[in-house]
Amino acid sequence: MKHVLRTLALVLALLAAVCGCGRSGSPPVKGPQPEDLPVYRVDTGFQLPASPTWERARKRGHLVVGAKEDQPYMGSKDPATGAYSGFDIEIARMISASLGFDPKTIEFKTISSANRETALQNGQIDYYVGTYTINDKRKKQVGFAGPYFMAGQSLLVRRGEKDIKGPEDLAGKRVCSAAGSTPYQRLQSEHPEAVLVAYDTYAVCVDNLLTYQVDAVSTDDSILLGYAAKAPEELKVVGSPFSKEPYGVGVPRSDTALRLAIDDALAAHEANGDWSKAYGATLGLSGRPAPRPPAIDRYPAG
Ligand code: GLU
Repeated sequence: MKHVLRTLALVLALLAAVCGCGRSGSPPVKGPQPEDLPVYRVDTGFQLPASPTWERARKRGHLVVGAKEDQPYMGSKDPATGAYSGFDIEIARMISASLGFDPKTIEFKTISSANRETALQNGQIDYYVGTYTINDKRKKQVGFAGPYFMAGQSLLVRRGEKDIKGPEDLAGKRVCSAAGSTPYQRLQSEHPEAVLVAYDTYAVCVDNLLTYQVDAVSTDDSILLGYAAKAPEELKVVGSPFSKEPYGVGVPRSDTALRLAIDDALAAHEANGDWSKAYGATLGLSGRPAPRPPAIDRYPAG
């Protein structure tokens, strides 16, 4: 009975955190304030005829962008209004403005970690911004502009957890991550002593952590810090990051013109202060000071 009550309390706490209601005594749950976000100047004269993706968007009249909807401060969707917000969403918006499309017209589509390559290959989306690590295996299927941010794999546990302080403590522990993600693959190859559990999204993993179905959630610190900041009385991030996850903007592999135009856009918004301002209004709310963006890798087509 005690366990049932505790589980119920935790589920209610999570719901309160997710809906932004907060409980009395808990810190207010902040989201990006519209007045803190940069306003991106739309480059109305912009043309990119060499990019089939851009041409298709021009005919359509707006961009279709893939994103995450359940990652606080990075990419999250307000269930009441359907509006997306977060650092990745701001990156998507600044790119849109540079490509000549008003960011307000972006049609966001939620795509999970396992479905990103297919969505880009099928032309379901024009580009993807959602904690998407650049690596050689993925580069065989899609192109990557950027990187625009450097994250690292980490661990989220319940606040009262004493045994798990880093990846070396995972033997026999149930650890949840998203199917098709690099953290899942790393746990599989480098920490086979852990009992791996996979779901489509990290939000389901966090539900499972709060209800004692798993002992830890592992993915990028940028994602975990968001969950921890939303439910600080229940959750904490432990240890130091144990991988390098350079985030890229996914594009169709053969569309080099689009990839390089997005590289230009990122460089321009990093130089004019938009990047830092967007960070401060989103992921910066999780308490981590703004890092410097990593160097953009304009790799040759091939
Ligand atoms: N950055 C990692 C990846 O691209 C984990 C986060 C995610 O699943 O989006 O797989």
